[in-house]
Amino acid sequence: MEKRIYNFSAGPAILPEEVLLEVQKDLFALPGVGMSIMEISHRSKPYDAIHTEAKANLSKLLGIPDDYEILFLQGGASLQFSMVPLNLMPPKNKADYISTGSWSKKAIKEAKRVGTVNIAATTEEGEGEHKYFKRIPKQSELKLDPDASYVHFTSNNTIFGTQWQTEPEVGKVSLVCDASSDILHKKIDVKKYGLIYAGAQKNMGPSGVTLVIIRKELVERSQDSLHTMLNYKIHVENDSLYNTPTTFGVYIIMLVTRWLLKMGGLDKMYAINKNKADILYRCIDESGGYYKGHAEKDSRSLMNLTFNLSSEALEKKLIDEATKAGYNGLKGHRSVGGLRASIYNAFPTKGVEDLVSFMKDFQKKNG
Ligand SMILES: *Cc1c(COP(=O)(O)O)cnc(C)c1O
Repeated sequence: MEKRIYNFSAGPAILPEEVLLEVQKDLFALPGVGMSIMEISHRSKPYDAIHTEAKANLSKLLGIPDDYEILFLQGGASLQFSMVPLNLMPPKNKADYISTGSWSKKAIKEAKRVGTVNIAATTEEGEGEHKYFKRIPKQSELKLDPDASYVHFTSNNTIFGTQWQTEPEVGKVSLVCDASSDILHKKIDVKKYGLIYAGAQKNMGPSGVTLVIIRKELVERSQDSLHTMLNYKIHVENDSLYNTPTTFGVYIIMLVTRWLLKMGGLDKMYAINKNKADILYRCIDESGGYYKGHAEKDSRSLMNLTFNLSSEALEKKLIDEATKAGYNGLKGHRSVGGLRASIYNAFPTKGVEDLVSFMKDFQKKNG
């Protein structure tokens, strides 16, 4: 079998090896079915069992209460940038958005096509080409409208490497979260949210399937005048089977959530994630300024760790040497530069430890 390298890609991202091996084993024919997951009807019993288990596993892991629906949709998190306002903004047609990065800005752009967007806070800094984010706003900075249809925030900013440590307090207004890059990295209190959405390809599965968790009462806001495929109510009424869902994607989510349950659940996963991130942040902080963390310390992400060296030339040298040594995907997003190590749930602790020795060694040789 081909040797696997350390995959620090921000997305599509690493999946648990155990899951990949099981998929490989059963790809030709699902046990007891005699056909592959890609060849069976989305209305067949074997698929129903997979779909139902994926939802049950998610409910168990996140403690999703009964008054919430779980949907598997398509169009990526990016389509949710439109579906959220189309379904949830009426009748007031105004919503609060907290801007903490590029994905927040894209969500805001779509919401503005639907109604009035109040930027409750933005932490953007810099000028022109050199705009960036490096922190999460404090609760006291939020200028919330108590009459807004909802408040939208991005729990983890994949590109800048910042993350909300706890969700914002928004009173009685429904909280909507783009959790694409940190879903399932720890347990959250789902009751605090009206809607959570996440593209699967960062921390949960392959691209092509998007998870939506929505409070039942909010589904009532979807108007019949909406296009069928853009209407949450239609997807809820049809258990995400109005049309053919990404059956393969839901199958992988089922296996990944099964893997998480077997490992001991999200508190266990969080402890592992915290330890992994601590190992790398410690290396950055103890390098005497050789490595500089991009995010402010109290806004640091456990999933995407962003840092710089003193020059672009040195950054390029490190990335080139790291790539040769089998550490893939460390180049920062083109809008930020520097380096980014994405260490999602499936990324092994050993890989972070090995990267840290590599970085210490690089500093010694190039200090
Ligand atoms: C990757 C990402 C997206 C975009 O997801 P697509 O599935 O490609 O549309 C949106 N939000 C966040 C936070 C992301 O990390």
